[in-house]
Amino acid sequence: MRILVTGAAGFLGSHLCRRLLAEGHEVIGMDNFVTGRPANLAALFENRDFHFVQHDVTNFVYVEGPLDVVMHFASPASPIDYLELPIQTLKVGSLGTHKTLGLAKAKSAKYFLASTSEVYGDPLVNPQPESYWGNVNPVGPRGVYDEAKRFAEALTMAYHRIHGLDVRIVRIFNTYGPAMRPYDGRVVSNFIRQALAGESLTVYGDGSQTRSFCYVDDEIDGIYRLLMSDFVGPMNIGNPDEMTVMELARLVVELTGTSSGIQTRPLPQDDPRVRRPLIDRAREVLGWEPRTSLADGLASTIEYFRQRAESEFARPVVTGSRVSARPGDR
Ligand code: NAD
Ligand code: UDP
Repeated sequence: MRILVTGAAGFLGSHLCRRLLAEGHEVIGMDNFVTGRPANLAALFENRDFHFVQHDVTNFVYVEGPLDVVMHFASPASPIDYLELPIQTLKVGSLGTHKTLGLAKAKSAKYFLASTSEVYGDPLVNPQPESYWGNVNPVGPRGVYDEAKRFAEALTMAYHRIHGLDVRIVRIFNTYGPAMRPYDGRVVSNFIRQALAGESLTVYGDGSQTRSFCYVDDEIDGIYRLLMSDFVGPMNIGNPDEMTVMELARLVVELTGTSSGIQTRPLPQDDPRVRRPLIDRAREVLGWEPRTSLADGLASTIEYFRQRAESEFARPVVTGSRVSARPGDR
């Protein structure tokens, strides 16, 4: 198949492009590098089946020739990114989804939306089945991401119902692994970077909030199976092994062998108390479930972070009033 991947230079997008190429597809990657890095695609540029277009998908998207699939992964995804880029986040989830749906319709292509567990907000039901409608604060700081993705899901289903577009929606739960940015602010990258630098691990709140962490290879495998399936409608893809953030901190300390301590910081506003996917649907429809244990997944992520030289882990630079360009981080 000939497949367009938006957000190709990001963490998940770059893994996805690699998997699609390995399956024998031709891939066109598209990205504006707002949170992604060309380095994530370095190895792919030598592949004759890989093409890259630098473009902001909130503007009209033009792709020459036929397309079989459009996969829309572009969006800031880490809380510190979408809090820093609220309007871009809303635009890529709304306008970017509209443009890429329009492209899929024009090319009679299948459409695949990267959605998120954040559509469940701060869930009042745990674990979360796809049938749960969520508990989202639309006017809080996280609303820019949550509502953009909820709108994207609604628009995707409208194109399915009105235009007969063949669509897939994956709700991705916290995923980690090599190619994460050291300063992306997510809990796994923060803890590993801090542990390797001998700094205290920063636990927000009392650390009793829970998450369920999925290794990137498992996540991409679920995404690929969903792409190849006939299933229309949202599908949770995540690891149901739930743990507290404090437990994760202790595990990272143990696995890295660091002498770092653990310090607490204020809990960000609207930080979900719990998160855990119900994956019965993925098990039944896709025959999918995660295979990588947290200890194994963290070990290979720690190894990746170790290999990126300490010098490359440049500190955040404050320009004007906000933390912006994170050199070596993009
Ligand atoms: P990422 O920030 O590493 O990648 C996102 C990519 O999109 C970046 O390369 C960025 O430059 C690009 N991008 C953003 N806005 C763009 C625009 N207007 N035009 C073109 N490119 C643009 O994040 P990620 O973790 O790889 O997330 C990828 C997708 O998966 C996102 O849609 C995100 O919402 C979703 N997701 C990720 C997770 C996770 O745990 N990583 C969880 C839930 C959902
Ligand atoms: N968190 C933390 N310390 C950090 C970064 C994050 O305790 O240095 C917490 C955060 O408050 C949340 C959880 O870890 O409860 C997961 O945060 P992340 O940003 O990775 O993703 P989220 O699931 O909130 O989107």
